Amino acid sequence: MLDLAGSTLYHQMQHCITSQFSKMTDQQKSLSETDSETQSDVESAIALCRARGGQMTPLRRLVLAELMMSDRPLGAYDLRDQVSTKSNRTISAPSIYRILDFLCDLGVAARIESRNAYVACIHPEHDHACVFLVCETCGDATEIENPKVESLISNDAKRLGFNVTHRTVELSGICAPCQSTA
Ligand SMILES: [Zn+2]
Ligand SMILES: [Zn+2]
Repeated sequence: MLDLAGSTLYHQMQHCITSQFSKMTDQQKSLSETDSETQSDVESAIALCRARGGQMTPLRRLVLAELMMSDRPLGAYDLRDQVSTKSNRTISAPSIYRILDFLCDLGVAARIESRNAYVACIHPEHDHACVFLVCETCGDATEIENPKVESLISNDAKRLGFNVTHRTVELSGICAPCQSTA
């Protein structure tokens, strides 16, 4: 929280300093701010992986960053192409799958079964069941957090003596933007 307050103050100061410049400069500034916010999210997710005992190779970092920067689920082949281009080497699909399994095991990414695609988890810092609203039209996957749903599921599983190893819930439907354009 302290960090957040500090950075807000910094942004305000930056705004005062840059407000005398042209609109173009303002646009560029807001672009680079978004980039640096994503960058710091990526860094904290990497730190989390390390804390959970995962070794973060440059390729694993790159796959995680691509997932976090994407606004929709990515298939393994899309990721393979993007990562190959960015790293200037040919990465095989099996390597990408291994990295995706690794990231899912560490709880920083999740697989959307119905789309056969992967997303970065929005709150990887605590152990939780990922619940996704998956749009059948645009393919967007929005993660929602609801501790009530989570405890219902885990209590029922416990009552039945079921040992849960994988927790991703997917709800299919049409997202609000797609409904309004239909
Ligand atoms: Zn999640
Ligand atoms: Zn949609």
